[in-house]
Amino acid sequence: AQQRPEPVTRYQPGQDESHLRELQLISDLHTAIAENHLHMNYQPKLNIGSGRLVQVEALVRWIHPELGFISPEEFIFLAEQSGQIHDLTAHILNRVAGDARQWAAVGLDVSVAINLSAMDLTWPALTGHVAEAFANWHQGLERITLEVTESALMEDPEEALATLNKLRELGVTLSVDDFGTGYSSLSQLRKMPVQELKIDKSFVLKLESEPQDQLIVKSTIDMAHGLGLKVVAEGIESLNAWHLLQQWGCDLGQGFYLSRPVAPVDLPETAKSLVAR
Ligand code: C2E
Ligand code: CA
Ligand code: CA
Ligand code: CA
Repeated sequence: AQQRPEPVTRYQPGQDESHLRELQLISDLHTAIAENHLHMNYQPKLNIGSGRLVQVEALVRWIHPELGFISPEEFIFLAEQSGQIHDLTAHILNRVAGDARQWAAVGLDVSVAINLSAMDLTWPALTGHVAEAFANWHQGLERITLEVTESALMEDPEEALATLNKLRELGVTLSVDDFGTGYSSLSQLRKMPVQELKIDKSFVLKLESEPQDQLIVKSTIDMAHGLGLKVVAEGIESLNAWHLLQQWGCDLGQGFYLSRPVAPVDLPETAKSLVAR
């Protein structure tokens, strides 16, 4: 009897299934972008001193027709791997601009923050897309904040700096997201034309019970203020955390204790209930 050759790769349970899922998601994401099946949710950012709603952060959502909710972390990663990230970012910029126009039409005055992917920082057309999406924005581009993660800035600091400078020429506000999770120092960040720093939620979630987190957050606020940066704390899940941040002079706060991300149509109601608190 003839012997069959050994297969080169052995079957590993789970591997093929997750690979198939990725391929399906990559292919379906094309359709979802083209046919407008993605939607945006918006999470309030409040002024910690006054308690007022000042901004909302746009967070993209995808409910897949068969697979249900897909986390943005999963499909943004796949968009980056499959060359779709710039289409996705351009799409999101336009969606957010559309939602913001709707709010303005019902008299809701709020600025917006949009997340950029690390790969957007090496995309020459980015500045043009931002300018185009918000060309008719009534409030001036300084009321658009773009959030870029600390690790994205440090991947290629020179290129990041060039892109951020171009964005600053438009007038947008720049924010460093997930601060504290990368390996940069404030002295490196000081060279970037950024106006805001967002302390990562991992330092904020258990703030009241973790003395080390308290030390990190408090000293980050002080140092950032010393450099003339505004500070945002994300991941505020309790009144205690809110009070501590208030005591330490943190400028803005965001988290489930204040509000979950909401659909754009629900933002006017959410804004009213936040004021009434
Ligand atoms: P991120 O930019 O750090 O966004 C904050 C994430 O924390 C959001 O998760 C938000 O729902 C969640 N969050 C807010 N408050 C709390 C809280 O009090 N407790 C806890 N445990 N979580 C809280 P989400 O929407 O799942 O987004 C995850 C990540 O996906 C984002 O992290 C961002 O990196 C990325 N992402 C989301 N939307 C976009 C987008 O439109 N474009 C890009 N490029 N990335 C996006
Ligand atoms: Ca963010
Ligand atoms: Ca963050
Ligand atoms: Ca994050």
